[in-house]
Amino acid sequence: MLIPARMSEAEEQRWVTVMLDKLAAQESRRKLGDTELAERAERLSVQYFDGRARPESVRWVTNQNTRWGSCTPSEGSIRLSHRLQGMPEYVVDYVLLHELAHLLVPGHGPRFWRLLEAYPRTERARGYLEGVVAADRLPYLPAARGE
Ligand SMILES: [Zn+2]
Repeated sequence: MLIPARMSEAEEQRWVTVMLDKLAAQESRRKLGDTELAERAERLSVQYFDGRARPESVRWVTNQNTRWGSCTPSEGSIRLSHRLQGMPEYVVDYVLLHELAHLLVPGHGPRFWRLLEAYPRTERARGYLEGVVAADRLPYLPAARGE
């Protein structure tokens, strides 16, 4: 990676982080259109739920800012927030699996979470998403500067 000269180490570190985030976002957007998303959902269903979760449609939506994903079991439709685009694959997979699981079990009872236990990165993905939500809120917190 080409780094502009005369950056302090902290600046350089920040710059590298920003660039890596941008690259990851581009890569993820390139990889996952609606078609790929549906294929991915099918693979995940086969891998973790013996193919029992069979959505009619899986697509990205841009009008969903407070939830990462949603599911209408009666229609078999799953929608994922475009805000997930650019996040690590294991996070997108987790949200997909979560919504797929709702096709099998409504609500968030023990049976639901038992289904998701099969996915090894459930806890990590949930932690990641919690971190994103917390980071989103940071600019609106009272400034802690100098106190
Ligand atoms: Zn849910």
